[in-house]
Amino acid sequence: MKFRNFSIIAHVDHGKSTLADRILESLGAMGERDKRDQTLDTLELERERGITIKSTPVRLNYTRPDSSGHGGEEYVFNLIDTPGHVDFGYEVSRSLAACEGVLLLVDASQGVEAQTIVNAYLAIDSGLEIIPVINKIDLPAADPEGAAQEMEDVVGIPAEHAIFASGKTGVGVPEILEAIVERIPAPSGDPEGPLKALIFDSVYDAYQGVLLFVRVLEGRVSPKDKINLFSNGKNFDVERLGTFSPGLVVGKSLEAGEVGWIAAGIRDIVDAQVGDTITRTDFPTSEPFPGFKPAQPVVFSGLYPTDTEDYRKLREALERLKLNDAAFSFEPETSEALGFGFRCGFLGLLHAEIVQERLEREFDLDLIATAPAVIYRITLTNGEALVTQNPAQFPTRDRIELIEEPYIKMSVMLPEEHVGSVMQLLQERRGSMVTMNYIGRRVELIYQVPFAEILYDFHDRLKSISRGYASMDYEIIDYREGDLQKVDIYVNNEIVDALAVIVHESKAYGLGRKVVDKMAEVIPRQMWAVPVQAAIGGKIIARATVKAYRKDVLAKCYGGDISRKKKLLNKQKKGKARMKQIGTVEVPQEAFLAVLSTE
Ligand code: GDP
Ligand code: MG
Repeated sequence: MKFRNFSIIAHVDHGKSTLADRILESLGAMGERDKRDQTLDTLELERERGITIKSTPVRLNYTRPDSSGHGGEEYVFNLIDTPGHVDFGYEVSRSLAACEGVLLLVDASQGVEAQTIVNAYLAIDSGLEIIPVINKIDLPAADPEGAAQEMEDVVGIPAEHAIFASGKTGVGVPEILEAIVERIPAPSGDPEGPLKALIFDSVYDAYQGVLLFVRVLEGRVSPKDKINLFSNGKNFDVERLGTFSPGLVVGKSLEAGEVGWIAAGIRDIVDAQVGDTITRTDFPTSEPFPGFKPAQPVVFSGLYPTDTEDYRKLREALERLKLNDAAFSFEPETSEALGFGFRCGFLGLLHAEIVQERLEREFDLDLIATAPAVIYRITLTNGEALVTQNPAQFPTRDRIELIEEPYIKMSVMLPEEHVGSVMQLLQERRGSMVTMNYIGRRVELIYQVPFAEILYDFHDRLKSISRGYASMDYEIIDYREGDLQKVDIYVNNEIVDALAVIVHESKAYGLGRKVVDKMAEVIPRQMWAVPVQAAIGGKIIARATVKAYRKDVLAKCYGGDISRKKKLLNKQKKGKARMKQIGTVEVPQEAFLAVLSTE
């Protein structure tokens, strides 16, 4: 059989899922009945947010038309969808490693964006053949030639190689299918050699356990084979395997060049890490596929049930989510203010949001989330090293010799006219410029920035000052020493551990001010005035007051009928859903995220 394994890469919203659907449709992979928009985006949340989290592969049959001069020749295409968000960059690189070529999509009305460039370089680094596709040419604002020229300028792919297409109308799809055959190389690899298969994704199935999504690079695997995972040395017996159509189709074997799934009685998704290599114990390969990195959370946040009774329910929900997501971590933590909860680790802010949203929606939990934090490396004055991502657990200042924080390399694409204000924003965020490249009338800025600086409202600010035109991407590069301080927050003169934040010395005062003002605004009025304070090492740096009620809300009910009074109390109770009692004060979720608010 003749195979072509490819992926579609693009900046978010440039039409990847839509084009994938057109391709599926034109190859008859979608019956009228299950024709829905964006078939490959399976999770409900993916559909709603228009992002792809899991890479869903599809196997398609393509028969070349007579017009190609090779009429009747048959091919099997494996299309591997990749996540489109910066949080999932490593998953993208592993999905690409499972392919020989990519369709690099650019929206004809937008041109090249930050993720277009980052994805293109990932593909180039993996040695893949790139087919440039200028998409959405049906749009009135489309400038296909301009977009193709940008692709040539930035990525070095000749503009005349580009195919003009529309996922909406289907224009260009036949040309794309022919280009896949003509330009993307057939997979190499000896089916008679030792087994080497790359895991590019994994999902949990209630009946079969973990399903490994693999690309077989060398050799062959069949049911009853004993397989071995390189990263942890564990062995499993292959129970069932097959291909994607897009549902799971059971097959007899998978061999070099093929893309498929394997069920091997794996119960824990942590044993099925993306990027790991599988081999056969009876015919092992000596070298794994290079570049394996265990999934590592980089953003952390505390999650607490608003109702302490929900602690067990939250634990069960986290365990359920973890079944399907090796990149997400959690461990129990206790906060003096919030009680029992969990410290959770995520690949990025979007990943954190997705997990929180799923917990609330699918498991019906009301949660308080603390402000996201990065991992800090601390050297203590006694020489000991400490790694923590929890501001509440920071040692006191007199015990700290130095603190190091993670830095990212960030690339921002934007129109020329906004360069000044975006550079100013990056400067405010303690960024330093590496380079600036002109691409037509647009500019690519490369900066090094402390990761923590982009956790709080960076993306929103970037979008608003560029009128929505700037796009960004980033990767963590290293750790550097920083003049960092812990700002504590007091409510009603009690320290609230879960509200502590780590911030650069130059920003401590501004941040303290912002947090207490925001909190005073969102904490409901009490019977008496409540002070909210920010402090560094016990020294107050900002203060605000939650004013007292002017009148008791119940006062107007005195003497009135009791049912009215009850109604009022009930109404108040409902509004409490996302509140946490701290001492005698009720603090709403918003207050915990005051640090994230944009002025
Ligand atoms: P993805 O984020 O790259 O997967 O992008 P989607 O496929 O979800 O598309 C993003 C948006 O662009 C959706 O609103 C689509 O309906 C729209 N879209 C996608 N392809 C086309 C196209 O060829 N023409 C037009 N006019 N709109 C498109
Ligand atoms: Mg999509």
